[in-house]
Formats: sequence, C-alpha cells, structure tokens
Amino acid sequence: MSRQKVLFAASEAYPFAKSGGLADVAYSLPRALHSEYDLLVVMPLYQFVERERFGIVSLGISFDIDMGGHRYPVELFGCHYEGLEYCFVYSPLLCDRAFLYGPPEKGYEDNALRFALFNYAILALLKREKYLLAHLNDWQCALLPLLIKEEGTVTTKTLFTIHNLAYQGLFEASVLEETGIDRKYFTPEGVEFYGKVNFMKAGIAYADMVTTVSPTYAKEILTAEYGCGLEGFLTVHREKLFGIVNGIDPKHFSPSADKFLMVPYHDLRGKHVNKSMYLNETDLAGKDKPLFIFIGRFSSQKGLGLMIDTIGWIASQECNIAILGEGDSKYHQALEKIAKSHSNIHLEFGYDESLSHRMYAAADFFLMPSLFEPCGLTQMIAMKYAEVPIVHAVGGLADTVQDHKYFDEKSSKGYGIRFKTASSDAFREAVLEGFDLYRDKQRYNKITEHNMDCDFSWRESAKVYVGLYKKITKERDHG
Ligand code: ADP
Repeated sequence: MSRQKVLFAASEAYPFAKSGGLADVAYSLPRALHSEYDLLVVMPLYQFVERERFGIVSLGISFDIDMGGHRYPVELFGCHYEGLEYCFVYSPLLCDRAFLYGPPEKGYEDNALRFALFNYAILALLKREKYLLAHLNDWQCALLPLLIKEEGTVTTKTLFTIHNLAYQGLFEASVLEETGIDRKYFTPEGVEFYGKVNFMKAGIAYADMVTTVSPTYAKEILTAEYGCGLEGFLTVHREKLFGIVNGIDPKHFSPSADKFLMVPYHDLRGKHVNKSMYLNETDLAGKDKPLFIFIGRFSSQKGLGLMIDTIGWIASQECNIAILGEGDSKYHQALEKIAKSHSNIHLEFGYDESLSHRMYAAADFFLMPSLFEPCGLTQMIAMKYAEVPIVHAVGGLADTVQDHKYFDEKSSKGYGIRFKTASSDAFREAVLEGFDLYRDKQRYNKITEHNMDCDFSWRESAKVYVGLYKKITKERDHG
C-alpha cells in the first residue's frame, strides 16, 4: 500500500528561514513523522533563503492567484533536504522582503495579503495533488481550513497547531475584501474579533482538529489570563483541542554531534572545555564561576522585564552572564545600560545560530523567566547541553522542567529550578537556589548529567500526532 501524503505548512523552517521555535518544529517534527507518512513541507521562498546552498530549483509550475480583484503570480520551487521533500512558494508580494514578518519593532503593513496569498497557494497545491491531511502552523497558515471549506471540492483534512496564541494575525476589516474572504465569515463564530479580522480564528473554527504545544498551555489558553481574548472561542472548540509537547531534534541539538561546536562533548569534562573556549571568545573571566545565559526574543513574553529588574543583582554575585537576542529596542537599551556597570555581563544583539550553540555548550544555567510559554524549546536544549534551567513554571516550562528538589535519577524527565510567581523576588529566590546548587558540586553534576541523558526528542509526541492524524482521517472514512 502506498504511503499516505501529508502536507506540512509553516511560515518558517530551519535551516531555510528561522525566527524562533516554529522553525525548529517545522524542521524536526516532519522528520519524526516521516516513517509513517509521506511528508511535503511547504513554506515561502523568502528572498534571503539560500537557493544554491540547498539546491532549491524551480519545479516549472507557475500560476496566478486571483485575490481580492488582483492577480498575483506564483511559482513553485523545491528541493530534497536530509531525506525530506520541500516545496517553496515564491511570489514577489510574499517573498521579496528583508525580514520574514517585518523589522523587529513591528510587522509589515501588508502581512494579511502576504500570508493570505500563501494560503491560496497551498490550496492550489491541494487541488493539483491529493493529500490526506494538511498540518498547518500558526496564524500564517490559519486561513486554509476556511479556504478549503469555501472551495468545496478539496477533501484534505486539516490539523491546525497554535504555537503562540499571542500572535493571532489581527488586521483591519478592510483586508476581508483585499484577501477575498466572503463577508459571511465576518461573524463572532468566524473570523471577526472586536471589529477586526483574526486569521487564527479561522484555523480554530474550521480545522478538523486543533493542537497546541503543551498540555498545560492547552489548559491555560481556556482562561482569561492566558487566552489573549480567545479563551471563550477556544472553550467553544475545546472538544477538538489537544496539547502535545514539542520535541527537539536529537541530531541538531546534540552536544556530542553538534556541527557548530569545535569540541563536541558527551560528558561534563567536555562541557568544561567548551565553557573555557567560550569565555576566551568573550570578555568574561573565571571558569569556576557559574555562567548564566539567556537566548531568545527580547519581548515581554520572555520575561525581559524580570530580566532587566534582576540581572544587575545577579551580576553583583560571583558569576558571569551572557545574553543573546534581539527584539524590542527598549530592552536593548535597558540591557546595555546595566551591562555598562557590570563587566561580567556579555551582550550579543542579533540572531546567530552558531553562537547560540556555543553558548548552550558553555553555560551552567539557562534563565527563562517567561511570563507565559506555550512550550519553549530553549529550556530543553539547555538541559540536553547539561545545564540547569531556571524557569517560571508556566505552560510548556511546567511540563518539561521538573523541580530539582524532587530529583529522581530514575525519572526520564529533565530537572531545573522552578518559580511560581512572575515577580522579580521569586526570580531572585530561584537564582539564589541556583547558586546554592552550584556550590553543591556533586548534586549539580548529578542533575546536569541526568539532564544530558534525557530524551527530549519527538519520539513520544510524534506518536501522539500520528494518533491524531489517524483519528482525523478515520472520521472522514466514516463520515
Ligand atoms: P520562541 O517563543 O521564540 O519560538 P522557543 O524557545 O520555542 O522560543 O525557540 C527559540 C529557538 O530560537 C531556539 O532554537 C533558540 O535557540 C533560537 N533562538 C532564539 N533567539 C536566538 C538568537 N538571537 N540567536 C540564535 N538562536 C536564537
């Protein structure tokens, strides 16, 4: 029997384009599902994607899309990368930009049109070839279930995954016409949201199934505190909502096989070599002092407010701190100001995959005071690289980081330091706990060695996805 075909669509996928965890998931989850299904990963061919490096070539398929009274040319490209098949959608409107979604401060004005066009292009793909299921990720792909419903002949089932409810694709009502969405969908049951158009609502309302990226976040988003205004709407659709924790790719994030490390390692001795090398690379000194790192977007979500309130105090202790990230300029400025008076704080602004791996390899603690966290990958990467994450126990952080006070070497879970309230006092307490743990070398080593051995891969979660894929498609057989 030939294998069933699944189309996996995302607005970014490592190594072609990456702004955060979605790209990691779009790289690693299709790989984990590949033994069960024939997967095609579909994403935009942004102008900065390195076509030659990845052997991306035109598939010789071009067509026009009529959207809102305008005609947009589309060309499809493709490549095989590490055993998987990729299809890239090229259209000048969608792709000829310096950034994926816009400069760090704000999104492009025409993102509604850009990503609506991406969804129309995927619909065209589904009309050309039969796919059992389309797995759609985040608001950039959320219109597709609505387009399929409206189109009427495509039988592909849909699973929509919410990676972060804080980004919903919210636009002025005028985009309805420009994107060719029928006004009949502009209702509270459809895409209307306080007078605006909300792309994510289309995914939630019309997909056959909805997942989000951890069980705790799946519960949290049904509450006013974390629901970003969609808690009521999600509650209506809760029967088809599931929380599945993300995994990390076991090869890409593996200290013993990491192609970004000069000295890959499989024990703490090797890690210490990496720490020394990283300290030499920076202006930081003192390899016996604990090294705290933060890698991530500078946004309120990631707890930058707490970081800024707290790192001056952390830096006044015997330690080093290294921060890599970019985002809101107010955080850049605040961090720079603090770092000026602390020589043990090293700042790197920007996005640098290779540097991030060297930092994971060097660090002793990973700071993650996120106000909310759908899943979070960085804490899992940190544990895999033998660090202790210090996390605000929300969302996926609560699901993936166990409290070190209850350390059990037989557990298959990773351990770290958890704090319950998003306050600088609680964060400081947790960091103090980190200093104590670091002084208790034997225990610290035991925990970090344990973390390194844990399996943070997709193995278990991929099985759950396969179960859901089967459930969705069986429903079609019977319905
Ligand atoms: P997000 O909410 O941003 O998706 P995740 O924890 O899910 O956060 O994933 C972030 C991913 O992006 C990780 O692979 C992390 O290492 C990477 N990352 C984040 N910021 C940077 C940066 N400035 N440079 C390099 N890698 C980064």
